[in-house]
Amino acid sequence: MDFPKNKAKIDPNQGLKGDADRLVSAGRVDDDAAFELKLRPTRLMEFIGQTKAKEQLAIALEAAKSRGEALDHVLLFGPPGLGKTTLATIIANELGVGFQQTSGPALQIQGDLTAILTNVRERQVLFLDEIHRLQPVLEEKLYTALEDYKLDIMIGQGPAARTHVMEIRPFTFVAATTRPGLLSSPLRSRFGILLRLEFYNDDELRFVVERSAEVLNVPIDRDGAAEIAMRSRGTPRIANRLLRRVRDYAQVRAAGKIDRETAQKALEMLEVDAHGFDELDRRLLRTIIEKYDGGPVGLNTLAAALAEEQDALEEVYEPFLIQIGFLDRTPRGRVATRLAYEHLGIEMPRKLSLF
Ligand code: ADP
Repeated sequence: MDFPKNKAKIDPNQGLKGDADRLVSAGRVDDDAAFELKLRPTRLMEFIGQTKAKEQLAIALEAAKSRGEALDHVLLFGPPGLGKTTLATIIANELGVGFQQTSGPALQIQGDLTAILTNVRERQVLFLDEIHRLQPVLEEKLYTALEDYKLDIMIGQGPAARTHVMEIRPFTFVAATTRPGLLSSPLRSRFGILLRLEFYNDDELRFVVERSAEVLNVPIDRDGAAEIAMRSRGTPRIANRLLRRVRDYAQVRAAGKIDRETAQKALEMLEVDAHGFDELDRRLLRTIIEKYDGGPVGLNTLAAALAEEQDALEEVYEPFLIQIGFLDRTPRGRVATRLAYEHLGIEMPRKLSLF
């Protein structure tokens, strides 16, 4: 039986088309959506890891509930697939209020934003994904809405146009971004709660895999789950996707049960290596080492050499390589580290190895 690599298209909301073909993409691809809905934890207690963010949020939720007020606005930031959308839905569940979701690129004209804001219900959660892609004019509209729950709307056109101030109901705005550095400081200052999500460690990811296997009714042992966790690039979305692929393999080749050997064989066949690297990661590191003497090489040059989009490199591929110490981001460009040379079995030139 043939197990095709993941060819589904990436969610247009993510806007990173270069990432669409990867099995270990942290971005959402088409066939993830239904599974993610099923596997998404609904309460804070079920949300694995992220201890710091969870604690901060638990206190804020408790305080808002006891005062009977809307929770302060929340900004969630961190690489894709770490649980930002999940936490936004958990916030609504924990508060026992409604949840509405949209995204920066989905809002095109002022009317889109006005329609959403005038329809919010008291204390509900309004979730805006990819806030860094929101148009500047709409961002300005948001300021007063977030601060005073008021909205300036224009009535009429030309000389007869008048502005009218509309009251909106108090609500909790939860925004997510993979690029917090791109947000303007007035926008950032509108958030009372800032939560940074970090990559997960192997134990936390093993819990994610075990929990998902239970929900999907897939028999898996601890070692099997650990093997998938290890290759998931610190990202629950990837862990869940690999689990699904390994489950298919196990069904056909191992009577449905996932142990270490089955997981290893399945992941080898899918060309996901021990670090969760795929061909693209290896190509990226190899390009820096072989074409640019290990770096530094500028992001735009690297993107052109790889025929990838700069945004995709910066938002999706690099954060994990930097996190595990294979890549350095320096003011002069990207540099491959000793670990990268070792992983690819390439000898590091002496002048570099002195650093
Ligand atoms: P993001 O919005 O940051 O891209 P999501 O919230 O969509 O990420 O998470 C992707 C998937 O990963 C979710 O469907 C969920 O099943 C899983 N997930 C994320 N974080 C956790 C967690 N802490 N515990 C369990 N599952 C998680």
